[in-house]
Amino acid sequence: RTVYVNGEYVAERDARVSIFDRGFLLADGVYEVSSVLEGKLIDFPGHMGRLKRSAAELEMALPWDEKALLTIHRELIRRNALAEGMVYLQLTRGSAGDRDFGYPDTDTPPTLVLFTQAKSLVDSRSGSEGIRVVTQPDWRWARRDIKTVQLLYPAMAKMAAKAAGADDAWMVEDGMVTEGASNNAWMLTHDGTLVTRELSHAILPGITRAVVLEIAEALSLRVEERAFSVEEAQSAKECFVTSASSFVTPVIAIDDVSIGDGCPGEVARRLRAAYIEESRRRAI
Ligand code: PLP
Repeated sequence: RTVYVNGEYVAERDARVSIFDRGFLLADGVYEVSSVLEGKLIDFPGHMGRLKRSAAELEMALPWDEKALLTIHRELIRRNALAEGMVYLQLTRGSAGDRDFGYPDTDTPPTLVLFTQAKSLVDSRSGSEGIRVVTQPDWRWARRDIKTVQLLYPAMAKMAAKAAGADDAWMVEDGMVTEGASNNAWMLTHDGTLVTRELSHAILPGITRAVVLEIAEALSLRVEERAFSVEEAQSAKECFVTSASSFVTPVIAIDDVSIGDGCPGEVARRLRAAYIEESRRRAI
């Protein structure tokens, strides 16, 4: 695989980052994951807009504009002949050459790393069969709106889900679902209203979430952006999650309680198909 590190395209085994890099020592970094369909990028401006915001919130320099970042993404897709999958991008504050809590001088070069991951996204098993989730206390930090590389707790939550025989975890705070460990959480009420949590510091503003909200509006579906409890979701008509790599994926059980008839819901299926169609149209 060819990867990108600080201006160079190199073979994976030749890629080098300092052991003093703040991303490595302090999780002082942000990231984005963009999906690729038929060799083209999905929701690219949305992902780069969020990257810019994450960096700005952490006073981290981002000395590449959207056009330069698009060139790097496209070059990696080309060099790796990626038809379907993801491009991962990570930006860290770099390092002044030693471990120190204080930020280095603002002229310290950041570290930018990108790599591709081939994966079947459209024809995925979870997309057609749905996933089972278990709830976990949301013990992440209080600025989940920033897409940082502090992913230890989400990793622990996913391991707990796996140990319980499930596929993924939903995070719960004060009895209310915040979001999935790596996706946004949705439910459909019995009167046909789509519900997903409102944007705040409590959740990541999902790029897929934003596009699905647009699609729902175009399909004249009723939508409410508000918090919902685990019990409300368990007794909902349908549940699903959204993310760049999973598109719209049905949730068929929460803590072993089946949702609806225990099969992927009709609205989730329609939204998944519409999202894929819209993404193909908008891909660049
Ligand atoms: N919420 C969390 C915690 C995530 O990690 C992700 C994606 O990785 C999402 C939501 C979904 O965001 P997006 O649709 O931009 O992929």
